[in-house]
Amino acid sequence: MTGTISSSAHSQSGLTDRLARWAKGLSGRPEEEEVNQGEQERPRVGTASNREIGRRRQLYSDIGDFLFAHDLDLTPVNFSVALDYLTGANLGVEKAVRAVLMERGKITNGWMETVAAEQRADDITPDSLATMLDKVEENLTQFTGLMHESRNSAKDYGAALQEQAKGLSEGSDSEPVLARLVGLTRSMVEKTRLVETQLRENQKHTQALKSSLETARRAAEHDHLTGLPNRRAFESVLNDELKVAQAQGEQLSVAFCDIDHFKHINDTHGHDTGDRVLKFIAGLLTKASNDRCHVARHGGEEFVMLFRGKTAAEACEAVDSVREDLATRSLVNRSNGERMERVSFSAGVANVLAYDDPRAALKAADRALYLAKEHGRNRVYLAADLD
Ligand code: GH3
Ligand code: MG
Ligand code: MG
Repeated sequence: MTGTISSSAHSQSGLTDRLARWAKGLSGRPEEEEVNQGEQERPRVGTASNREIGRRRQLYSDIGDFLFAHDLDLTPVNFSVALDYLTGANLGVEKAVRAVLMERGKITNGWMETVAAEQRADDITPDSLATMLDKVEENLTQFTGLMHESRNSAKDYGAALQEQAKGLSEGSDSEPVLARLVGLTRSMVEKTRLVETQLRENQKHTQALKSSLETARRAAEHDHLTGLPNRRAFESVLNDELKVAQAQGEQLSVAFCDIDHFKHINDTHGHDTGDRVLKFIAGLLTKASNDRCHVARHGGEEFVMLFRGKTAAEACEAVDSVREDLATRSLVNRSNGERMERVSFSAGVANVLAYDDPRAALKAADRALYLAKEHGRNRVYLAADLD
């Protein structure tokens, strides 16, 4: 829609940049607009043309209308998602908004955050990660350069000192030699100070990059809503744990858990309450986890658990006690104080080592889950090995 929007700029800083650019284009321009009434079409050097300003104003107004129509708060995240939707700058966001409007006709602040986070996670890989890595490399090169420079100037200083010292010992007039020594030392101190400042700057940049990379890594591997590792992260944990289990001759079992009638929970209590139920169950599963039991959100209302050192039957028992804990609780809908109907999940468990490929074990657990659903839900089933 407008040439100023970059389709890859979806991060918070990208948004800030864009806002800053537009604010620049809009702020302080009205007087100029009036002054330049007669030359509206002519773009000014370094500023936006009036037509462009008009387009931006319209876009701001459309974003405002969109947020107002859906009763959304005016936050940077909401602004960013509305912007991407209205400009079509991000196909993923556009599709997600269309789908949620078709499905529910309503958008919530929580949903906007989830979409923004998912989009951000997608943005992070692989392009922006590559850019960040390039910057780290650039910083390292700069750092090496600075070290080299500093070493060279120290060497030069040493050589010059020696030269002057020779002058002193040869009994030449010591006055100018001393003055030169003072001068040399001063210039060495100045150089050192400069290098120090540059190194500090370099260190600051590297620190900022490190924290951006850390944020990127977390966003790429964690589910925004529950804070649990996501499917991608789980797959790598599964592969790692498989290697450890094989090397140490330990058992390895996997469980697939799926909330029962979750659609009904959403339909009855609203999507935000559904989100809170998801977080609550994620918390219960996390409580059951440790360094040999990993939990992840596999997607939607499905969670996976991986147990090292437990047979499938033992893993079944562990999952079943979480299931029972949940099913015997009576949850209250925080938004209206009403008691909710029982919330439960079903699960299927499989022995990972009984399959050639861990993905086949996941499939077997999923089939057992399907049977648990068919046989009435709120139960945990064990997959028959190699079924
Ligand atoms: P079943 O017992 O057979 O599993 O029924 P179900 O209703 O749980 O399963 P179904 O697959 O029909 O519906 C899953 C629902 O989960 C639909 C989808 O809108 C909802 N859902 C997926 N992700 C989220 C989320 O992040 N938040 C909320 N609130 N709902 C979600
Ligand atoms: Mg499901
Ligand atoms: Mg379900």
